[in-house]
Amino acid sequence: MRVPMIAGNWKMNTTVSEAIELVNKMRQGLDEIANVDKVICPPFISLAAVGELIKGSSIKLGAQNIYFEEKGAYTGEISPPMLADLCEFVIIGHSERRHYFNESGEMVNKKIGAALKAGLKPILCIGERLEENEAGRAEEVITEQLRLSLAEIDYIGSMTIAYEPVWAIGTGKAATGGQSNGTIGLIRRNISELYDREIAQGLRILYGGSVTADNIAEFIQQPEIDGALVGGASLKADQFVSIVRQTSEIRGESDRGEAS
Ligand code: PEP
Repeated sequence: MRVPMIAGNWKMNTTVSEAIELVNKMRQGLDEIANVDKVICPPFISLAAVGELIKGSSIKLGAQNIYFEEKGAYTGEISPPMLADLCEFVIIGHSERRHYFNESGEMVNKKIGAALKAGLKPILCIGERLEENEAGRAEEVITEQLRLSLAEIDYIGSMTIAYEPVWAIGTGKAATGGQSNGTIGLIRRNISELYDREIAQGLRILYGGSVTADNIAEFIQQPEIDGALVGGASLKADQFVSIVRQTSEIRGESDRGEAS
């Protein structure tokens, strides 16, 4: 049974004091909710302060990016060992990084390898752009991204994948539960081919793209979807807590249904 995950990607939002304020607003509500992995990913500069605030709680911490070298003359970059000291998870290959910072599949692959080596748990983002979707190329693009990202990576047991159709990110136009369930099923079949069935069945695969408290139920009810990567709505404490709470309730009900 895969434990669902809700991860909040704060992107380039919040100063350190705003991050502290936001965590203070959501900490208790999140901590009370069981059976869901709750991950918040603030900007680098707030990781230490947020980490202190959530110490001893069930909330987990992630970063939004990483560099693949361990140390050296890479001005402005943050290495895997630096992050491993501060947090458990790291988002890798987000479409905004691929788009604005020209991150290639090869770079994503190096980042995944370096993060795993440092003991970090990557949240690998993949997803097709609007024009690729409209051209009927979504499956081909996703399969290619997945294979490139995971080339020569032997162990993915601690990884999470987020399927994020680029056209759904920050647009208010989420995919449907059915569409994303189908694509996530495809990703799982690919993982089964690349590794094996057991690894594919154990791997968490999230949906991401305009998830809110109003539509999370549609995604969580799908059998292949193990949670969500949430951008905009993770900056609103009540929305984010509601997304996590609904996930726990819906998954709790389906677990009870399977057990009886
Ligand atoms: C994201 O940043 O990964 C994301 C899915 O953003 P939003 O929820 O705002 O669409």
